[in-house]
Amino acid sequence: MAQTTSKLIVVTGAGGFIGGNLVADLRRRGHENLRAVDIKPIDCWYQHFDDVENLSLDLNVKENCETAARGAYEIYNLAANMGGMGFIEQNKALCMLSVLINTHMLQAAVKSAATRFFYSSSACVYNADRQRTFTAPSLTEEDAYPALCEDGYGWEKLFSERMCRHFSEDFGIFTRVARFHNVYGPWGTWYGGREKAPAAICRKVIEAKLSGASKIEIWGSGNQTRSFMFIDDCVKGIDLIMNSDIAEPINLGSSEAVTINQLVDITEDIAGIKLERVYNLEAPKGVNGRNSDNTLIKKYLGWEPNTSLRAGLEATYRWIYQQYLAQKNGESGVIRELAATAM
Ligand code: NAD
Repeated sequence: MAQTTSKLIVVTGAGGFIGGNLVADLRRRGHENLRAVDIKPIDCWYQHFDDVENLSLDLNVKENCETAARGAYEIYNLAANMGGMGFIEQNKALCMLSVLINTHMLQAAVKSAATRFFYSSSACVYNADRQRTFTAPSLTEEDAYPALCEDGYGWEKLFSERMCRHFSEDFGIFTRVARFHNVYGPWGTWYGGREKAPAAICRKVIEAKLSGASKIEIWGSGNQTRSFMFIDDCVKGIDLIMNSDIAEPINLGSSEAVTINQLVDITEDIAGIKLERVYNLEAPKGVNGRNSDNTLIKKYLGWEPNTSLRAGLEATYRWIYQQYLAQKNGESGVIRELAATAM
């Protein structure tokens, strides 16, 4: 783990799920000089802290990236147009426009003489042909080429990965790239269309439990396989990768594949209910099979996620349950003071 430093660390996308949890983790580990940046107004961030310099800036704009990066020692660039499959499939141009954030942040990082730059890439860069079956082999880093990425979002990620590589070669900044595989946990999007499968399933099960409904809609056949990494494991992995010598993109995810049906089974079990499943085969569902091969990260960093899916989902379910109840009672925004409510 990196040593605590008084040098300035910048986190972009800090009003979002992973960025907010990363700032919280950096604080916990004693970093005192933190700048958090997001396009959203600060009171809409999932987490914000009074002892952090919080800036609301649109990082599509080059000058704003220069403001964000000024004086930075390290930059974690997590700002992006991001969502689950529904959002990604219906907003390809918007997802590709994140290239403005990444281009301008890299330029600003070089200008401000930052030493290290972390880029959050995605398993969506991997070749679709390697993910056609429910039992497709786990994806190794070399499976990104020849390129056949997730349209829109995935191509932008692959392009930005290569920009990191060439900025490193040409301008001498250390860039570190993690390919995240489905991250889930508290303090992230759980409704509104940008939420990913674990949060969406928790919300649907909670809705059914509280309303007495007996059915749940599942996108696709439920047989799609994915792996899910709990947020605490993710921020630990980010720290290890950022402070490593690994110059090439590397997987950061769980290697335990489960079907969407199994994800629903666990969530139902946590909620203590059983629902009739209605499969919507027309809904966006992504590739059939995707899992992370963790050979490289285990070899280089000895990293493996240590939160079981059941434990991570319980924490996520509990957090969404609180948010759901508060919203139902007319409270707006993110509920930060969580009461001990029975589930
Ligand atoms: P998120 O949507 O919760 O966070 C992204 C944040 O970026 C948001 O708060 C958003 O407001 C901000 N943002 C968007 N455009 C901006 C702009 N122009 N200027 C400033 N801020 C802007 O998403 P997340 O899940 O926390 O994802 C963080 C990063 O990790 C993203 O790059 C995402 O592509 C990547 N990633 C996430 C996952 C996952 O499972 N969550 C998987 C693969 C990759």
